[in-house]
Order: sequence, then C-alpha cells, then structure tokens
Amino acid sequence: MSISFSDEVNEELITTTASLPEDSNEGSLRPRTINEYIGQEKAKDNLKVFIDAAKMRGESLDHVLLHGPPGLGKTTLAAVIANEMGVNMRITSGPAIEKPGDLVAMLTNLNEGDILFVDEIHRLNRAYEEILYPAMEDYAIDIILGKGPSANSLHLDLPHFTLIGATTRSGQLTAPLRDRFGVSLRLELYTPEELQRIVIRSAGILGVEILPEGAYEIASRSRGTPRIANRMLRRVRDFAQVRADGLITREVADEALSRLEVDKLGLDALDRRMLRSIIEFYNGGPVGLETLAATINEEAVTLEDVYEPYLLQRGFLTRTPRGRCVTRKAYEHLGIQYMGQQQMDI
Ligand code: ADP
Repeated sequence: MSISFSDEVNEELITTTASLPEDSNEGSLRPRTINEYIGQEKAKDNLKVFIDAAKMRGESLDHVLLHGPPGLGKTTLAAVIANEMGVNMRITSGPAIEKPGDLVAMLTNLNEGDILFVDEIHRLNRAYEEILYPAMEDYAIDIILGKGPSANSLHLDLPHFTLIGATTRSGQLTAPLRDRFGVSLRLELYTPEELQRIVIRSAGILGVEILPEGAYEIASRSRGTPRIANRMLRRVRDFAQVRADGLITREVADEALSRLEVDKLGLDALDRRMLRSIIEFYNGGPVGLETLAATINEEAVTLEDVYEPYLLQRGFLTRTPRGRCVTRKAYEHLGIQYMGQQQMDI
C-alpha cells in the first residue's frame, strides 16, 4: 500500500542529513581542533584523556568507533583527532572497499601513527573484515599469493596505526569487529544552544551578518544536526541578501525556513507525513517499522536512521516492542484531536 499526500515530499529536503552537493564547502566550516569542536562534551572529555595518554606514552591512539546519526560530526571529529595527534588521516568507506586488495593497499600505505578513517564501516564486506582483525590487533596481515598447492603466504608487518570507524548503525557491526575497538563513542543530537554557537561560528567564517536570535531560530529548527544547521544558514543567507539587506534576524530566519516547509519545531514534510499516517491509518500505533515504511513509500532504514532519532528526542514518537506509536504531543502539533490513551495502546 502506498499513499500520496498533497504536501508531496521533494527529493532534496533541506532537512536531509545526507550530504548534498550544496554542502560541498562544508570543509571550510569544519572545526580543526578539539576546542573549536562545539558540543559532544562527554565524547570530547573521554577523547582528551585517551589522546593525552597516547601522547605521553609516545604510542598510537587505540582504535576508535564513532557512532550516531548522520551529519553529527563523526568525520569532523576523526579529523580533529588526527590533528590533535599530529598525524595524517586517510579516508575510505565500507562500500568503497570493493575487493580485499583495496583494503590491503590502504593499510600498507599508512605511516607510523597514521589514522585510517572508515566511514559506514557496517557496510564493509564481511569477508574482508577478517583482514582487519590481525591488522588491528597485531599490526600485521597475512596475504595468500597464488592458489592450490603452490600457494604462498606472505606475512606483512604494518605500522602502528589507528583505525577510526564511523557508523550510523553500531548494532550491525559484527561482534569480533566491535570488540577490537578500544574506544567506542556515541555522538548525540545537539541542543539548540550548541547549534546556535555552531551557526554563529559558521556565519563568521562565511562573512554573514546574523543576530543571536536569528542563529537560535535556525538552530532550533535544524533537528539537532550541524550539517542541517549549516545548510539552513546558507539558504537563509540567500534569502536575507535578496529580502533583508543581508542581515539575518529572527524574523528573516523564520520566514525563510517557513518557505522551505520546515516548521517551528524543525519538522519537515516527511516527518509530518510519517506522524500523520500513523495517526490516520494505524490509530496512533503501534505499527511496525516495515509496515510504516511501505505505507509512506520510504525505506525502513531511512526512517530509522534519519527521521526517528529526532522525533524520539522531541517526544513525538515512542518505540514499543509492538511498534511505533505517536504521542499526544504529535497530535497537538499536527492539530489533530487526541482521542485518549487507549487509542494509542501503549
Ligand atoms: P558525519 O561524519 O557524522 O556525517 P560530518 O563530520 O561530515 O558528519 O559533519 C557535517 C558538518 O557539520 C561538518 O562539515 C561541520 O561543518 C559541521 N559540524 C559537525 N560537528 C560539528 C561541531 N561539533 N562543531 C562545529 N561544526 C560541526
């Protein structure tokens, strides 16, 4: 069953957490040091200890797993770690490693202390993962050359490197791989105050005039995600240049974002569609994720990784063993009459 709604979702919602072509200048906005990196205090505190200890011992940093929804700063944090450790970072991703040789080449090209950053590490082919086990544990790999009786095994020592893996779904990592990371850090959605600081910092770099209230308006509508906050800042800047002499006030930000169909609480058309279908077709829930995904014609993983974290954080949605339920707050936000607790069946 697939249902169309009047507020048809356009393919490139401003609120998507995926990286869009318009984000290509993200690089200039990336903080380079741990002090410039705003928020994620718990993860940063832990990291500072590990970085200082590794530096004191003159050793490479333990392998680090970073997990959390897209756009929260995993790649940025990995680059910050490399910078703080004073080493180089090579970047690849799980799906980019198409054959074992790709991984072997990456590993053998590293220098002592270097960081290998593997984005979306949960998508790495399981068979190639086994190359990583001895590499991470003993800094060595064994390569089989040739086939059959004439096959030879070649033992290669690797430099002491640090693997930083990033994933949106740590649950999909195999246990042997997960266990080989000495440090595992979860990145959380940012508070509006933290995002306000990020927006003000980015505006400074981009040379955009912005009032603190304007920055807060953008921050509170960017679903806890710096990538979205920076993207909204650029879109609001364009609007401000044409309509408001370039200065981003609260009113300018509000008007620009409302035009982009992002409501006061940062929900976009797809969020509203998801909540509304649970109410209209499943009486508020519970409804299983796969069923819901089929109903609104989206992929279940997209709903789970990209949409749910924010809806859960803002208290619009709950997860129960029998499926997803919307809360009274969601009814109120959508202006739909709430019929009572038993309807929600939670
Ligand atoms: P991820 O790897 O988790 O998808 P990125 O590291 O690519 O996310 O971050 C997306 C963008 O958000 C970066 O280009 C950076 O400008 C911004 N950003 C992320 N985290 C922070 C932070 N803590 N402080 C300031 N800007 C940040």
